[in-house]
Formats: sequence, structure tokens, C-alpha cells
Amino acid sequence: MTAQFDIQRIRQQFPALAQECNGQPLVYLDSAATTQKPLEVIETIRQYYSGHNANVHRGSHTLTAAATAQFEQARETVQRFINAADSKEIIWTRGATEALNLIAQTYARNTLQAGDEILVSELEHHANIVPWQIVAEQTGAKVVKIPMHGDCTLDMDAFAQRLTAKTKIVAVAHVTNVTGTRNPVETLIKAAHDIGAVTVIDGAQAVAHETVDVQALDADFYVFSGHKIFAPAGIGVLYGKKALLEAMPPWHGGGKMVEKVSFDGTTFSALPGKFEAGTPNVAGSLAMAAAINWLESLDREGAEQHIHALRQRAIEGIQDIEDLQIVGLQPSASLFSFVVEGVHHQDIATLLDQQGIALRAGHHCAHPMMDALGVSGTLRVSIALYNTEQDIDQFIAALHKACSLL
Ligand code: PLP
Repeated sequence: MTAQFDIQRIRQQFPALAQECNGQPLVYLDSAATTQKPLEVIETIRQYYSGHNANVHRGSHTLTAAATAQFEQARETVQRFINAADSKEIIWTRGATEALNLIAQTYARNTLQAGDEILVSELEHHANIVPWQIVAEQTGAKVVKIPMHGDCTLDMDAFAQRLTAKTKIVAVAHVTNVTGTRNPVETLIKAAHDIGAVTVIDGAQAVAHETVDVQALDADFYVFSGHKIFAPAGIGVLYGKKALLEAMPPWHGGGKMVEKVSFDGTTFSALPGKFEAGTPNVAGSLAMAAAINWLESLDREGAEQHIHALRQRAIEGIQDIEDLQIVGLQPSASLFSFVVEGVHHQDIATLLDQQGIALRAGHHCAHPMMDALGVSGTLRVSIALYNTEQDIDQFIAALHKACSLL
């Protein structure tokens, strides 16, 4: 562990981790669902509502001007975080889901024609499947699956075969949420561009764990949620290349997204306002910037080494459990999924919860992937930089106990 990566100091930042759950110290292993929040983020929200709350981009008084400046500065923080070329390419949304729906209902709905195809991987979260099915229904386009191999990696031969002149959009996760599979997005994006298709990358599980450079990736669209990166729920980001965003029609109508409204016709704001109708989640945007600044102040490489060492400890500690199988183990991920043959995942999760262990059991909003694996669900251990060896040891002991009871 490096000098800068001090786990005890990090844990002090997370008051939620200091509690007991069912009489045991809480062991939070569900960070892929949502992360706990550091004091910096909690304090940012408290300070905003204690002294700075005002509506933004409206009115001329001092408080609103200050809130607007902070709100736009937060956008610049996100721009820098993912290395977007321009802060106008950063659109605030409620989360990754809303960002994907925005792309589907503006870009896709206005460009797709009957017979066009949208390539979507079999490893996706429902948020990166259903919006495409809806827009396909609306336009007569077709959603085409990129299948996965048995080891939960993308079948790149099938991708190459299914990428044709009909393909207009390729939508894939940067990192998937069930197994932590890192899709080869660089290769996918390049291949998609070679045939003139547009790429949509779901970065919800990636941004907390790796440095993302949207310009180096050459992604056309990139989305993520604040709550998976130590910021609150209800704030997220749509990145889009400026030329694409400028050509897209607005989605939601209302205040701020307009230049001039009249009953003879309405003109719309320039970017980014065109896609931000209504009063935005100002506190959420500020808290997102606080989370990013906090994350960037850490030794991120050291944090990932810490996470991977803990994951290895967990895997080694549960390997001897009879009939336990890790599903699609990926070489470097912050999470893993497992099943115990003959035992329902929910029964195990309940017994773990009784011992203070919070993890996710179920289909992980990835029905197609569950179907491909031939399971109804898995248990998922997802580790964040605030987890400790004690957490992992408590989990290992609790899982042994649960499995011995079932
Ligand atoms: N994409 C992936 C890979 C996810 O893991 C999730 C959430 O679990 C989402 C999209 C949806 O994110 P949100 O619910 O924050 O919109």
C-alpha cells in the first residue's frame, strides 16, 4: 500500500461505514449498486443549502449569480475529469439511465430509419438495452445482440460479423456490472467508426475505477451516474461530441432550454442548456464536482491495487466452499459474481445480511446475461477503496456459516 493511500484516513471520511448492522459491524460490499458518500460530498450539500441555495441561470441577484458560477464550475470539473474538449459537451442528467434515454429519444429517434440496426452487447445493464428497444419500435430499426462467450467476455468475431452497413449505433458498457468485464471499447469504437456508426459507451461502472479520456477513446457519447462515484443519487452526466449534440433536437421542453418562446414558434438555447429543461439539481452537480475532486486527490492507482488485493483475498477465502462457482471471473475488476449450486442466491444474501454483510443478490438488471449464463441470479461482491481486510474476513466467515446452514 502506498503512503498516500491510507485506508484508515479514507474510512474516517465515510460516516455510514461506522455503523452496526444486525448487531455486527456493517460490511458494505455493494458499491457497484451505489457507493457510500465521503464527508466532503455531504458537507458540500449541507453548505449549498445552508448558504448558497438559489436557482441558476435565472434572475440577477447576487445569490443566483454565485450559484450559477458554482454550477458551471462543476460542469468544468466534469469536463476535466473525462477530458472532454469543451464544457458545453457535458449535459447534466439524473443519471446514466436518463442520459441513455436522452440519446435514444433525440439522436437515435431522429436519425434511425426502418431497417437500420443498433448493436447492443449481451452483457448490458437494462439501462443500455431497453431505451434502444423503445426507439427501435418507434423507428422500425432493429436491436441486434453482440453475444458473449461462456467466460463473460464479448464475442468479437460475432461483433465483426454483425457490424454491417445497416449498423448505425453501437452501444456497449465500458465495464459491465455483473462480472466487471472490461469491454474492448477502443477496438469497438474504431470498428464502428470505420463503417460510419455512432458509439454510445455506458461508463457507469468504469469512472470510479479508471481514468477516462473521452477524446482518446473517440467515444461519440459517454454516460455515467454520480452515485456510483461517491456523489449523490439524482445527478449524472451525458457527454456527447459537440457536433452531434448541436445537430440533435431537444428532448424535454420547458424553462432554460429556450431562447425565445412564442405561440408562433420557439427557438432553443445553445448547448448545454438545450438539453437541461427545468430547474436542475444544483446541489447534486456541486456534490458531483466535490466527489471528483476528492477522488482525484487520492492515489487512484494505489486505491485500485488495494481493491484488487481485497478481491483476491475474498476469492481465496471462499474457494473451498462446496459447490461454489465464480461466474465469469475477470482478471482485473473490482467485483465478482458467484453462485452456490442448489442454493438460492437470495437465501444466502439473507443469511449474510443477518451477519452485517451488504451485498447484491439477483439478476443485477441484466436479464439477457443471466439467461446466457443459465442462472436466475448471482451474488455479487463489489469492493470500493474504503473496504478493509477485516471487511473481507468478516464476509468470508459469514459466507462459510451461511452455506453450512443451507
Ligand atoms: N449501466 C450500468 C453498467 C450500471 O451498473 C447501472 C446501474 O447499476 C446503470 C447503467 C444505470 O445507472 P443509474 O441507475 O444510476 O441510472
